[in-house]
Amino acid sequence: MARSFSRMWLPLILLLLVIPLVVSTFYISVLNNIGMFALATLGVVLLTGIAGMTSFGQAAFVGLSAYTTAALIAPSTLNLGAMMGAPWLALAAGLALTLLFALVLGLLTLRLQGHYLPLGTIAWGMALYSLFGTIESLGGHSGVPDLPPLRIFGLTFGDGPRMFYLIWGCVLLAIVLIRNLLESRLGRAIRALRGGQEMAASMGVDVFRTKMIVFLIAAALAGLSGWLYAYTQRFVSPGPFGVQAGIDYLFMALLGGIGSLWGAVIGSAAVVLMREWLQDWLPALLGHGGNYESIVFGLLIVLVMHRWPGGIWQGVARRLKLRQHGHMRLPQTGAAVEPLPRRPRPKPRERILDVRDVTRRFGGLVANRQMSLRVDAGEIVAVIGPNGAGKSTLFNLVSGVDVPDEGDVLFRGHRINGRTPRELAARGLSRTFQHVKLLPEMTVLENAAIGAHLRGHKGVFASALHLDGEDEARLLAEARRQLERVGLGEHLERTAGSLALGQQRILEIARALCADPCLLLLDEPAAGLRHKEKQALAELLRKLRSEGVAVLLVEHDMDFVMGLVDRVIVMEFGQRIAEGRPEEVQRDPAVLKAYLGGVEE
Ligand code: ADP
Ligand code: MG
Repeated sequence: MARSFSRMWLPLILLLLVIPLVVSTFYISVLNNIGMFALATLGVVLLTGIAGMTSFGQAAFVGLSAYTTAALIAPSTLNLGAMMGAPWLALAAGLALTLLFALVLGLLTLRLQGHYLPLGTIAWGMALYSLFGTIESLGGHSGVPDLPPLRIFGLTFGDGPRMFYLIWGCVLLAIVLIRNLLESRLGRAIRALRGGQEMAASMGVDVFRTKMIVFLIAAALAGLSGWLYAYTQRFVSPGPFGVQAGIDYLFMALLGGIGSLWGAVIGSAAVVLMREWLQDWLPALLGHGGNYESIVFGLLIVLVMHRWPGGIWQGVARRLKLRQHGHMRLPQTGAAVEPLPRRPRPKPRERILDVRDVTRRFGGLVANRQMSLRVDAGEIVAVIGPNGAGKSTLFNLVSGVDVPDEGDVLFRGHRINGRTPRELAARGLSRTFQHVKLLPEMTVLENAAIGAHLRGHKGVFASALHLDGEDEARLLAEARRQLERVGLGEHLERTAGSLALGQQRILEIARALCADPCLLLLDEPAAGLRHKEKQALAELLRKLRSEGVAVLLVEHDMDFVMGLVDRVIVMEFGQRIAEGRPEEVQRDPAVLKAYLGGVEE
C-alpha cells in the first residue's frame, strides 16, 4: 500500500515552524527565496507539467505584480506605503493586473494549436522586461529601491522568521488548494488537457475554458509570489523577470518533477541552493572569478534529468513509495449518496439517430455518398465494410467531429449537423475511440468519472476548498456503478494504463455510459482484441441492449458483428451496398464480393 501523504503534513509543519528559529538570517532569506520561487513554480507545474501547456512567461507575471506593488508603495513613486491597507491594495492590484494580462494572452493563444502559447509567452516576457527597463519613473534598469516593509495584522514582516512563515504558509496553502482542485471533477478535466483534449471535448469538457482556468491560476500564483517578492527584497529591478528567468522557472519545475506539486518546492530549492553554493565554491575551486556557475549548473541539470527523467521528486517518491497525487477519493457505497439525475429516457422504439442522404467529399474523393441509416432505442446497429469504405468518415459526421457536405444528421428529432462533440455529449450522444483514448496514469475510476463531467457542476473555488464533497461523491458513485455494470468493479484503483487492451475498451464504454447516453457510438470496438476479449465485449453489448441502450458500432470485423447485432449496414466505396439482419446480409452476393474480393486483411 502506498503511504498516505497526509501523515507527513504534521511533521512538515513542525519542521517549518522550527527552521527559522535555528538557522542563520542568511539562510532564512535563502529559504524565503526558495518559497517565493516555489509559489510561482507551482503555477508552472500545473500549467506545463499537469496540463501540458508550455509557458516561458511565469517570471514576467511575477514581475508585473512585483512592479505593481513597488509602484504603489515606493517613496519615489506613489508612496502609499504608509497608508492603511496599502499591502492589500497592492496585492489586489498586482493580482488584478496579472490576471488581466493572462486573460488577454490566453484569449490570443489558448485556442490555437501548436506553438502559439510558448511563443506568445516569450514575446510577453521580452516585452514586459523592456517595459520595466524603459519606464523612467520606475527607475529604468536600476529599479525601484527603498520599499517599506510589509505591515499587516498590526505586525511588521521584515526579512526574518515572520516573512518566512508568511511565504511558506502561502506555499503550503497553495499546494493544498491545488491538490484539492486536481482531485475534483474540474481537476480531472485539467489532467485530461495533456494528451486527452479530443477525448475530453467529446465527454463534454469545455477545453478552452479549462485551459484558461489553469492559465489564470498559474498567473495568480505568480502574482502572489511577486507581491511577496516586493516586500521581501524591498527592491525591484527588471533583472529577475525576463525571459531567462522564465526559463529558470521551467527548469525548476522540470528538475523537481514536472508532474507533481511537491516537485515545485524541491526544484526551487535545488536551483536556488545550487546557485548559491556554486557561486561560493567555484571561484574558490578555480582560483578566479567568472560566470562558470551557469555552465556547471546546466551540466547538473542534464545529469539529474538523465538519472531521474521524472524529476527529483518522482525519484524520491518512488523510493519512499509515496503516491504521486496524494489521496484518491473513493466512492462511498450503497445508499449513502443520492444517485445523479438521469435524462428523460427515450420511448421504446423511439428513433434515436436518423442519418439522411449524407455526402462527404474530400477533394475529388467521395468518402460518403448519400448514406442513410437509422438507429432506434434498444437496438444494436453495425456499419461494416472493408478498409477505406467510409465507415470512420460516417462515424465522424455523426459524432460531431466532421460536418457533412450534403444531407442531415438528426439526433432524437433534432438536426445536429455542425454541432460540436461537446454539445452532442450534452444531448446524450456518447462515444468510444478506435484508438483507445484513456489517461493511462489516472485510475480506472477517475477515467470513468470523466464521462460524467456534464453531470457535475462545481467549479474552481468549490473544488479547491473541498466544498464539492456531495457533487464529487455522486459523480464517483456513478463512475463506480458503471464500472460495476461493465464488470470492471474490481479494478477501480488500478491505473488505466495497466489494464489489458480488452479491458481498456470496456473502460471506454463505462466512461461513455457515465454520461447517461441515449446512444452509444463505438468506433471499431473489437479492433486488436483477442478472441476471448471479443466474446466478453459482445456479451457486455448484449447486456446493455437488454437494459435499453441504443448502440451504433462501426466495425471492420464481420465475425464479431454477426452473432451480435440487430441490423447491419454494409458499406463499400462510400455507399451502402446492403442492409438487413446479419444472416441475410451474410448471404448477399454483393457483400460476399466486397469482403472476399475486397481489401480485407
Ligand atoms: P474506413 O473507416 O471505412 O476504413 P474511412 O472513412 O477512414 O474508411 O475512409 C474513406 C475514404 O476517405 C478513404 O479513401 C480515405 O482515404 C478517405 N479519407 C478519409 N478521411 C479523409 C480526410 N480527412 N482527407 C482526405 N481523405 C480522407
Ligand atoms: Mg476506420
